[in-house]
Amino acid sequence: MVDIKDLIAQMTLEEKASFCSGKDFWHLKGLERLGIPSIMVTDGPHGLRVQEGDPTRIGLTETVSATCFPTASALAATWNRELVFEVGQALAEECQEEGVSVILGPGANIKRSPLCGRNFEYFSEDPYLSGEIAKSHINGVQSLGIGTSLKHYAVNNQEFRRMTINAVVDQRALREIYLAGFEIAVTGAQPWTVMGAYNQVNGTYACEHPDLLENLLQEEWGYQGLAISDWGAMNQRVEALKAGLTIEMPGPSPANDAKIIAAIRNGRLEEAVLDQAVEKTLGLIYKAQEVIEAGYTYDREAHHALARKAAGEGAVLLKNQDQILPLDEKFRIALIGEMARVPRYQGAGSSLVNPSRLDSIHEELLKFVGEEQISYTPGYPLKGLDVDPDLIEGAVAAAREADVAVICAGLPETYEVEGLDRDHMRLPESHNQLIAAVAAEHNQVVVVLSNGSPLEMPWVDQVQAVLEGYLGGQAGGGAVADILYGVTNPSGKLAETFPLRLEDTPCHDFFPGGPRTVEYRESLYVGYRFYDTVEKEVLFPFGHGLSYTTFQYTDLSTSAPRISESEILNVKLKVKNTGSVAGKEIVQLYIHPTNPGVFRPEKELKGFTKVALQAGEEKEVSFELDRRAFAYFSTALNDWQVETGEYQVLVGASSRDIRCQTVVQVESRQPDAASAERDRIPSYLNFSSPAEISQEDFEFLLGSTLPENLPEKKGRYTINTPLSDLGGSLAGSRLINLLEKQVGDMVRDEPDGPIALMMRASVKGLPLRAVAVMGGERISGGMVEGLLAMVNGRFIKGLIAILRARKDDGHSLNKVDS
Ligand code: BGC
Repeated sequence: MVDIKDLIAQMTLEEKASFCSGKDFWHLKGLERLGIPSIMVTDGPHGLRVQEGDPTRIGLTETVSATCFPTASALAATWNRELVFEVGQALAEECQEEGVSVILGPGANIKRSPLCGRNFEYFSEDPYLSGEIAKSHINGVQSLGIGTSLKHYAVNNQEFRRMTINAVVDQRALREIYLAGFEIAVTGAQPWTVMGAYNQVNGTYACEHPDLLENLLQEEWGYQGLAISDWGAMNQRVEALKAGLTIEMPGPSPANDAKIIAAIRNGRLEEAVLDQAVEKTLGLIYKAQEVIEAGYTYDREAHHALARKAAGEGAVLLKNQDQILPLDEKFRIALIGEMARVPRYQGAGSSLVNPSRLDSIHEELLKFVGEEQISYTPGYPLKGLDVDPDLIEGAVAAAREADVAVICAGLPETYEVEGLDRDHMRLPESHNQLIAAVAAEHNQVVVVLSNGSPLEMPWVDQVQAVLEGYLGGQAGGGAVADILYGVTNPSGKLAETFPLRLEDTPCHDFFPGGPRTVEYRESLYVGYRFYDTVEKEVLFPFGHGLSYTTFQYTDLSTSAPRISESEILNVKLKVKNTGSVAGKEIVQLYIHPTNPGVFRPEKELKGFTKVALQAGEEKEVSFELDRRAFAYFSTALNDWQVETGEYQVLVGASSRDIRCQTVVQVESRQPDAASAERDRIPSYLNFSSPAEISQEDFEFLLGSTLPENLPEKKGRYTINTPLSDLGGSLAGSRLINLLEKQVGDMVRDEPDGPIALMMRASVKGLPLRAVAVMGGERISGGMVEGLLAMVNGRFIKGLIAILRARKDDGHSLNKVDS
């Protein structure tokens, strides 16, 4: 048993400070002198991305092969806590084999807009569902002694200017929507690490936010682990350490480590704060040692099979007119679309997995029926988005010869990329026109979709079935085939609303904001909380998903008609499979406050269960509701508050398909008069679109005026100005050109591919402070001040500073010299 306190006592101040940044991109530091090992941390979240080659550089392409499990949006659509736990365990086994101690995930950010470029990596628009799935993921991984990193804490809901944007969000939305999922995951699973987000939250960078890191995470939620920065998120190192941000990544970051030492020497920081941070880091390192077992290998076949099972449960049958699915095995099939042959199964960015195997829908269907029964036509070009009339004509001709047309469509890989948000919610025109053309000729059309976030379906009324396969991971092809042929009865449900059109989304007028701030004017009204409150028609509602069987809900009852807020309410009902095949139903419980004194969404998810039922079988399903199920966050009390009153308990198959309901009277111990005016703002009580809510009312809700949102100008640039805004300065443009050229060299093989898009977007969004870190040795910390002076027009001063830094650091400026 290692005595961590004793080790710390033997360390010099410099050694301790050096533990505050990583060793390279993917390792935490060890200390040879004291025999402290270094450990590996790597992405995440739905598969391992262990970089091959130089760990001092960010390498996005060469990684060891691993199982690519379904991405988070598909995992959430399973609504299956046990299955997600199992996937977590499998991820941990792969970590064990690769010697990884912490896997960077899961991501529990809320899907505020369907456009966020990383929605495929996140679970849901609902915090309860996000939190519950994140909790299961973390518990699964950690049950085998491997750590997780719950990310991106917090309010990181867009990619546009992600490294600098200031998310302006009111306290209620913060607590009830954007933090509630993190709270569930932290209190229910204690992730070994939490990753601080890039962005600012109400004017303070997430990585140095005392409210987020200290008051909430540690004090209120009792977090025991440690916070690490997202890669390149560090702004003010000393402030961050004080707030509770233990490790800066990537490392090393000698300039920031030195700031910690200086702050201790000049009395701005107590050494005890550093000691505590080192204690946490060593705690993590030694906890990780407990499971390191040389020569461990995981069962690749079993993991692939698990990936298939998870993809099968995460696929959502959105429409199935006249029960066209499952397919009759005698049918002749026209299989159409490149995505049937070249799977679209994951998103681009730091989560990119090099899959150990990859199953296509085409190959997998051929395992069910003979080649003579399936014709394949591409339908649209794989690369490029242009409509190709010949390909469409070929597909239509093939469809005419078949009993059923199965069209595999979806979002191309360049549409779902870390670092970039989408700017529309459409499929490529080549996919839309193909589907419309085939549907005009055939009345048995099944569309299978591959995408990580919602899309518009202008053709939905013309096709008979739609199966949302999400980004189902490496075994998604087999999972789709299983569903098409009825080997798997679909049981996924949407963890997000599919709106009819982008303009319907509640944050439409306020997303992605910029240049400096993004307003969360819609407050609590995210996803179905908005659509159901204003009764807006949607394409497919939150919680929706069909099965090949039917379920009946009866006998809903509660343990009492009236409870005090400190009591638990038990809710139970019976669910029966009334069809002829076995299936699984996701039973959802929502709470609707009958007559709230404060503004509240129409209904909120407070419980769910996935229940497996044989044909004809009936089971009892039960839920336990505690006070938080009825509470809102009171700005006056700065605490959770339950209003005395009546609450409807709604149980159903989706947010728009409530099957049974009852009421309960809840008595609060707090006087209702405590509610602030801010919680009652009329425009939030009665509106049809957040665009109707005035800035004045939003400011009243915020409790402050909106921060300035003008771009920074030359002379006023700071280390936090993104490179895209430095165009007004010659030195700034030169720097951008230089970095873009470097990116160009790195992505020479695929200059228009998703990684290239991501890297170019990243350069634009990079603030000067992060150039220092992300540039590895090329631009050292000491040079940033010089660059800042230069971009602000103080060229000579900047040059001198850079030359001095170059001498001090012993680093080479390489091409920056020019
Ligand atoms: C991403 C994180 C990721 C990290 C390491 C960052 O850019 O935001 O999600 O874990 O890189 O790759």
